[in-house]
Amino acid sequence: MFRRADTGGTVRASYENVAATRLATVIEEGETRVQTVEHLMSALAAFGVADAVITIDGPEVPIMDGSALPFVEAIRDALEPAPPVPPVRVLRPVVVEGGGAFASLLPYEGHRFDVGIDFKAPVIGRQRVVFDLTAEGFAAEIAPARTFGPLKDVKRMRAKGYAKGASLDNAIAVDGERVANAEGLRFPDEFARHKLLDAIGDLALAGRPILGLYRAHKGGHRLNYELLRALFAVNENFAIVA
Ligand SMILES: [Zn+2]
Repeated sequence: MFRRADTGGTVRASYENVAATRLATVIEEGETRVQTVEHLMSALAAFGVADAVITIDGPEVPIMDGSALPFVEAIRDALEPAPPVPPVRVLRPVVVEGGGAFASLLPYEGHRFDVGIDFKAPVIGRQRVVFDLTAEGFAAEIAPARTFGPLKDVKRMRAKGYAKGASLDNAIAVDGERVANAEGLRFPDEFARHKLLDAIGDLALAGRPILGLYRAHKGGHRLNYELLRALFAVNENFAIVA
């Protein structure tokens, strides 16, 4: 749950409260709205936290450096050992698609994410990352991957109130065959790793870990949201593991 210190309002971190998905995942309940929850949710999910109250003093989770690493560093040493949260098991394939993209959940005895992307910008191109979710694997391989966008969109996101103060300090700015950031990339496939990070965060809005294989190509926040809705829309699709 997110609590707005500035308004006193709360919003449950559930896919049922997703209100917008275009530039980031936005959740809303009643009058209370919180945007860009996915990177923090991703870190919490990776470390097995399914129950937390996050207090923030404004409408957007801080973008930090555009990755989930600052959240990982803040929570990893603060966590007390706790019994694992019973996961939801995927019983049947669930697929959503649109615009040449798809996202899917398949029965699988693990927590695997398989993410492909295909961008026109030559510096991104086609990339694919497969990752079995563990806390320390996430911290090392996925959490450092930063959000990204075309150089011109960094300005557009700022105008809309997303990624406040967006700059080369908190996003990879893609400019055709190069990135505009002087420090370059943290991984050659940082873009696909960030999409995977986003998927973990978006799927955390299920409220519990998902036992299954997430596979997507050219996916994003909208398809991730539709995927959770499709999963939970039909009782035969899933079971809560006791
Ligand atoms: Zn992201």
